[in-house]
Amino acid sequence: MRPFYRLLSHLKNYKLLLAGNIACNVLMVLFSVVSIPAIIPFLNILLDQQPMVAEAPSSALSTNNFTEYVNFWLSQVIAEQGKRRALMYACGAIVVLYFLRNLFRYLSQFFLAPVRNGIVRDIRQQLYEKTIALPLSYFSEERKGDLLSRMSADVQEIESSILNVLVSIIREPLMIVGALSFMIYVSPSMTLFVLGLLLFTGLVIGQLGKMLKKQSREVQQRLGALVAMMEEGISGLRIIKGFNAEKFQSEHFKKENNAYRRILVRLLWRKDLSSPLTEFLGVATVAVLIWYGYGEVQKGGLTVATFFAMLYAFFSMIEPAKIFSSAYYNVQKGMAAVERIESVFNAGLKIEERKDALPITNFNNCIEYRNVSFHYNDDIRTALQDISLKVPRGKIVALVGASGAGKSTLVDLLPRFHDVINGEVLLDGVNIKNYRLHDLRALLGIVTQEPVLFNDTIFNNIAFGMEHATHEEVENAARIANAHDFILETENGYDTNIGDRGVKLSGGQRQRLTIARAVLKNPPILILDEATSALDSEAEKLVQDALDKLMKNRTSIVIAHRLSTIQHASEIVVMKEGRIIEQGSHEVLMKRKGEYQKLVKLQTF
Ligand code: ADP
Ligand code: MG
Repeated sequence: MRPFYRLLSHLKNYKLLLAGNIACNVLMVLFSVVSIPAIIPFLNILLDQQPMVAEAPSSALSTNNFTEYVNFWLSQVIAEQGKRRALMYACGAIVVLYFLRNLFRYLSQFFLAPVRNGIVRDIRQQLYEKTIALPLSYFSEERKGDLLSRMSADVQEIESSILNVLVSIIREPLMIVGALSFMIYVSPSMTLFVLGLLLFTGLVIGQLGKMLKKQSREVQQRLGALVAMMEEGISGLRIIKGFNAEKFQSEHFKKENNAYRRILVRLLWRKDLSSPLTEFLGVATVAVLIWYGYGEVQKGGLTVATFFAMLYAFFSMIEPAKIFSSAYYNVQKGMAAVERIESVFNAGLKIEERKDALPITNFNNCIEYRNVSFHYNDDIRTALQDISLKVPRGKIVALVGASGAGKSTLVDLLPRFHDVINGEVLLDGVNIKNYRLHDLRALLGIVTQEPVLFNDTIFNNIAFGMEHATHEEVENAARIANAHDFILETENGYDTNIGDRGVKLSGGQRQRLTIARAVLKNPPILILDEATSALDSEAEKLVQDALDKLMKNRTSIVIAHRLSTIQHASEIVVMKEGRIIEQGSHEVLMKRKGEYQKLVKLQTF
């Protein structure tokens, strides 16, 4: 039940609206309950059974007294103005009561709408913030779609299943209690039947409801898998088409889609049972009630009008009971969504900043990896093993090695996308965990193989994360990155929207934009992770030239895929299976005739 409390804790931001809602609900229940005995005089007049009271009752305040007042007053009306006029008053009273009941029903929903959607907004916002705070290692391809589904479908599910019926869970029981009180007041023995029925219905409904949550969890999981497939399908379209795999993919999707439908149908079959079940059990009780009640009337224990009022009271309980039971089912169904969202909130935020973290504004001396080991979450294989490496200020250190050697993992430790498992990473002699995360990352410029661009203008993509960049600064950065010329050739220059992930640009152009972004940030330390390896040699020339300008007067760690580009590096580090196996300048390593020489030879042929 704990996740539910978090959901309810959002309510505290909406106290006033909530108070309005509750007040209106109480009033609505009040007018509903009062309308039950209000039909007694109406029926009495119709059935010619209105007791004629000639004298006003004593002024003591009680229900009995109130009934007598009404009877006294009605007797007078009947005597002076006729039955028809009395009937008109009785009908009028019922109309007024129903008007008030529905007015407050509307008002309660009126106050609730902003609460419901406000809470959903709050949850969505928190979820987004949590998502972008999670460490990068949390995300894998199948998780992306699932997370998207949690952010959209599960949040919506909470709105429709839980918040939507939250009121019913409070209001309907109130209504039932109100109606029951009237019944007990009139005939305790008849009420026993009703209580028996309520208990029985409650048990049946409760048993069925237990299954619902489990099924619903499965439904949402399936939906997550489905959204993940859609996401993959769209982002992998080039490959799907290229390999003629459309049919294969749609068959695969069809299977998932069908599985989702099957389980959803089964869930709905069960969920939709609540309301008919309640109604049927209700009517069955009415039959018994009529049979028993008629006996009471014959014995003279009840007047006909009161008997009808009893029936009416019972009928006015069926609807709330129906709503309540289906609300209960809905909540069960929604709880699965709450738990799925909660598990995102509970996902370990492993990159933590110390409370007394140090500020850092520049880099003076040296980056050092000291006996660093690392492995990914559930992976027992070590991605890095006992790495020690120094990168002095102003130097270029190149990492080379086969794919999967651990190069990217090594550089990802510096901005703390992951944290080391053993050993430490030091910046100017201080463990990077001691610095403020924001400050640390501000020192770093990162250019990766896959340019990360957003569906926005060229200007905003370059100025990304820099709130106060002027047009001049952005243009300067673009010039250094060899991007200015092609930007001017686009439709709206710097204001051109580049589409999703920059689809409207070529690979080389995209990469030059990310370089311009790094130039603008002007960080003292650069990380280039295979920045040119996705490009053809024509595009590579322009990008490499831009990179060379970018690296000037900075400290760089370069992961190179084309070895010719790093021959001038101060130090070349050769990695294999998570370890450093060779280290030195180009000349030294060539003379050693080891792994590096082998790699170079491979590339020159
Ligand atoms: P490189 O950049 O040298 O090609 P990586 O650093 O990307 O190599 O990968 C090193 C090892 O870590 C590989 O065995 C790879 O499979 C594994 N690895 C990389 N990223 C992840 C991840 N997010 N989750 C689990 N394992 C990973
Ligand atoms: Mg890599």
